[in-house]
Amino acid sequence: MSFYEMSFELTNKCNLSCLHCLRDKTDMRSFISVELFDSILKQAKAYNLKHIAFTGGEPTLHPHFAQIIDTVVQHGYTYHFVTNAWNFLSVWKMLNDPHFPGRIGKLSGVSISLDGSNEKTHDYIRGKGSFKKILQAISILKIKGIDISVQITVNKKNFNEIEQMAVLASELGLKRLFYAHLEPTTLAFEQDLVLSPGEYREAEKRVEKLKNIMKIEINFSLGHYEPLLFFQCRALTMYSPNIDYKGRLSFCCQISGYTGAHEEELDVIADLNTVSLYDAHKMWADAIHKFNLDKIDLIKNKQITELDYFPCFYCSKYFGKIDWMEAYKNDPWAADSIKTKHSHRIKKHTSEMKKG
Ligand code: SF4
Ligand code: SF4
Repeated sequence: MSFYEMSFELTNKCNLSCLHCLRDKTDMRSFISVELFDSILKQAKAYNLKHIAFTGGEPTLHPHFAQIIDTVVQHGYTYHFVTNAWNFLSVWKMLNDPHFPGRIGKLSGVSISLDGSNEKTHDYIRGKGSFKKILQAISILKIKGIDISVQITVNKKNFNEIEQMAVLASELGLKRLFYAHLEPTTLAFEQDLVLSPGEYREAEKRVEKLKNIMKIEINFSLGHYEPLLFFQCRALTMYSPNIDYKGRLSFCCQISGYTGAHEEELDVIADLNTVSLYDAHKMWADAIHKFNLDKIDLIKNKQITELDYFPCFYCSKYFGKIDWMEAYKNDPWAADSIKTKHSHRIKKHTSEMKKG
């Protein structure tokens, strides 16, 4: 399959310290170089690529964010970025520089993270002052007619606001709203933000109801309960490769740079500083093949658990992202992850690949 879009984690730097953040804050602050970015985009032309997505960290904090966007424009792609909107005013000024019309011309949308239906809840998760900054960014983008998506990560703090979030998004005149499950981290456990698997399912049902009654487009992001064990997400169909801030192709952005993960980064496929995009693509295809074969073995050995039907949770286990959960033995997520440590399988596989 041809890549439709490419996702770049431009930097791991961030100006917020959200309580539910799953990105590793202990890793040295770093960013992808403009030279490598340009080289990857050149190679990607052969795939008939259309679109570039930016995530982070906070992608707008890349020290050469303007140059990165100009590179996208030169290659003729459209782009969007995910932002916490904290420094939106200065970013907006840069995007609207009349000397570089492509910056705004090729911008297809902005995706903003909003974690509560009111200032109190949102700022509890994301820090004081964040809610106001987001409303300001939304009003500017709306006036300019830029497509806005908002994502809420559902947790214990905003669980009761699922419906109010849809009302707020509607009142703000947004185009679409995404709900996402919180992927567990030690901080999220310590802050008592992690919902039980049953509450995850309840949240999904409530969102499903909202879809039918609200005019705004509503979706559940990847990670929701999926009855098909071989569910094909954007990563598994190779629709959108993810390049991290070190310039490495990783299995999927959902689990990239996961805090507390196994030291050996089992989801990292290839370093594009030294490997061509095409060779990295082949290695990714091999890794997906192995991923599926391992799942078949788990089915055969009756090791699939009910929680494995939350596909991103399954991947977190498989890639050794949540081995630390052993410390939370009484939690239902932890009990499941201890029962089936899929990570050892891929670890073995990775060492075998290196030897080969
Ligand atoms: S969730 Fe996003 S905005 Fe918040 S600290 Fe993490 S990377 Fe930064
Ligand atoms: S974590 Fe796994 S299931 Fe979730 S989007 Fe990524 S590859 Fe797909």
